[in-house]
Amino acid sequence: MDKIISDILNNINEGLVLIDQRLNICIWNKYMEYLTGINAENAIDNNIYEILPNLTRKYLKSSISNVMDNGLKMFFSSSMHGKLVNDRENLNLKISRFDYNNSKVLVLEFLDVTSQFIQVDRLKKYVTKLCELNKKLKEKEEVIKNLAYYDKLTGAANRTLFYEFSEKFLSVAKRNNTMLGLMFTDIDKFKKINDTYGHEIGDRVLTKVANILKKATRKEDAVTRYGGDEFLILLPNIKNLSDCETIACRILRIKNNFIICNGNEIPISLSIGISCYPKDGVDIDSLIVKADKAMYRAKKSGGNCNCFCK
Ligand code: GH3
Ligand code: MG
Repeated sequence: MDKIISDILNNINEGLVLIDQRLNICIWNKYMEYLTGINAENAIDNNIYEILPNLTRKYLKSSISNVMDNGLKMFFSSSMHGKLVNDRENLNLKISRFDYNNSKVLVLEFLDVTSQFIQVDRLKKYVTKLCELNKKLKEKEEVIKNLAYYDKLTGAANRTLFYEFSEKFLSVAKRNNTMLGLMFTDIDKFKKINDTYGHEIGDRVLTKVANILKKATRKEDAVTRYGGDEFLILLPNIKNLSDCETIACRILRIKNNFIICNGNEIPISLSIGISCYPKDGVDIDSLIVKADKAMYRAKKSGGNCNCFCK
């Protein structure tokens, strides 16, 4: 029977130490030999703290005497207490007391959880990688969104976004009985700039105009490159027509309305037509037609000015 028990103790995958009341080692199994490199013959009959000096930490010593005195079981996790036996393995420690023949013995079980630590570590790395991939995906989504909704040259909204905004702004205006302004803006004599200075300078003028419009409008206004040298601006929450005029004047009077090319100032001027919901139409297409017509009148009167829809 003793032989069977000894074989079992030496074959389990956990370190097992039995100590008597004087804290001398009575049993030291094979797994303990593997963990410490100390043979059973060298461990048995020696004091536990001599053989395992890592257990001399104050709280461990007082826990061991506590279990010996009171019989309560104690558990020390590797993640909280670390290095209970050596620096290599992650070991949990369970201490229990057994009483027989009027004497007490303590059983110290060292359970190797190194593989669980490795798995947790792998999982942490996997989660970090997933977070990085997710971040990259979000950045890609942002790029795709920008391509789908914004004009590449000027950074202004494109037609797709304009129609999304107009639908949203119109339904809010209808629900709240408020006005919605629409500005149709076209650069004066833009072809001449292209023909005289080249397309690259023309492109710089377009970008400059987008910046002028963004600067002169409010945060909630939607500046859109509608096509060629035409920019449409949606003006939600307009209280009266003079609000539109104020914004148009701000655009036309902007100081820095030129670009420099080879030391020459190339002036930029705009013609602006304004229509307004509900006065000039209840859908976006009729508002665009009306604003376009008003813009045409501004052009006819010499450009660099704004006209309201009649
Ligand atoms: P008006 O005062 O009557 O508006 O005259 P305009 O010369 O500005 O005539 P219009 O508005 O019809 O001209 C638009 C020009 O814009 C025609 C086209 O060659 C040019 N254009 C359109 N898209 C681009 C672009 O992306 N870059 C450049 N550089 N030019 C463009
Ligand atoms: Mg033009």
